[in-house]
Amino acid sequence: MAGSIPHSFLITGCNRGIGLELVKQLLAKPHSPEQIFATCRSPGTHQSQELTNLSAKYSNLSVIKLETTDPASVAEAMKEVEKQLKGRGLNVLINNAGIISETTLETVDEKDLLNVYSTNVVGPMLVTKAFLPLLKKAAEENPQAHMNWTRAAVINMSSILGSIKLNAESFLRNPVLSYRCSKAALNMLTNCQAVGYKKDGILCTAIHPGWVQTDMGGPKASLTVGQSVNGILKVLCSLTENHNGILLDWEGKIIP
Ligand code: NDP
Repeated sequence: MAGSIPHSFLITGCNRGIGLELVKQLLAKPHSPEQIFATCRSPGTHQSQELTNLSAKYSNLSVIKLETTDPASVAEAMKEVEKQLKGRGLNVLINNAGIISETTLETVDEKDLLNVYSTNVVGPMLVTKAFLPLLKKAAEENPQAHMNWTRAAVINMSSILGSIKLNAESFLRNPVLSYRCSKAALNMLTNCQAVGYKKDGILCTAIHPGWVQTDMGGPKASLTVGQSVNGILKVLCSLTENHNGILLDWEGKIIP
């Protein structure tokens, strides 16, 4: 991956799980990005202690407060990132923050569905919309370049559970109704962003990280967070215009 790492990244939900591991693996690259904006809801608290420790060690890491469902928080974060970029654009936005709830067709209610939708769909929509000027700026810095992550990209962390085509294979075993609906909507949001921002040179792709051992995935999951993120970064590095608007898994396989 040497020589092909984008200049800047912003990742949501970085205090634990996949977001934190993305930050760690990007920092460990021989050619680490010049600026990594690791965002979380509660910087400076015990919930984000690992991020605080990393930021003391790595000068290219900034920890920024960002509650993805709150427009005021998103706007504040955007202002701070814009300041720290000093006139440059933002190359890669990873909408990673997400939640799950264990609802079925019988137990789901309005509150649960709206709550999960808010974090998993409204959040990525608000964050992408707010950071769009910085993503456009990055794409304009390389107007002749093909669409790829070193130019400008939005990556939405989705799930195979949002695939309508594959739903019947796992729904009865693992209903998570609100989560499935929200990730299906996130896949549609990704495709709409891909079509809409193509003219701006911004690549938009959804990624399924696999079943991963995090607080969300649980200890029985098939992948360690390290394996998943190692795969995801290889996939992101290989993205081209052909991957605009689609859902890929952590190994680069297309999910219908
Ligand atoms: P975790 O539950 O381990 O971590 C979720 C992260 O999202 C936390 O940092 C959490 O912050 C943050 N977050 C949640 N809501 C918000 C919000 N409103 N604003 C800002 N941050 C928020 O999940 P994973 O790391 O496992 O999952 C990351 C992504 O990958 C999610 O989108 C998930 O749907 C997806 N995914 C995960 C799979 C798995 O097996 N683990 C499988 C398929 C997809 P806080 O600590 O403050 O709550």
